[in-house]
Amino acid sequence: MSERRNPKAKTLHKTLRTCKNGHKYYKSSDCPTCPVCEAQRKPNDGFLSILSAPARRALEAKGITTPKQLSAFSEKELLALHGLGISAIPKLKTALAAKRLTLKNDLV
Ligand SMILES: [Zn+2]
Repeated sequence: MSERRNPKAKTLHKTLRTCKNGHKYYKSSDCPTCPVCEAQRKPNDGFLSILSAPARRALEAKGITTPKQLSAFSEKELLALHGLGISAIPKLKTALAAKRLTLKNDLV
């Protein structure tokens, strides 16, 4: 085809977008991925991805990003975190069980 791109031509149709975290970025394709969020995302076995956004933020604010770190907390301590509701507990326990871990004081 004759649609060869001239590297010097800056005629790419870029649009300014704002992601859900407020980052502004330009994209020429319709890919919705924010490059800033993408760069900040750290793989953690999908551990935090099972949670709702408020619960995830609550754990991250506490420095909890892995099941191992989570296992140092008791259910009571976790529920005291702002944003983390009772519905998150079963999910967390499931994630811990998958790693053969439990919450603190969770054996009795
Ligand atoms: Zn972003």
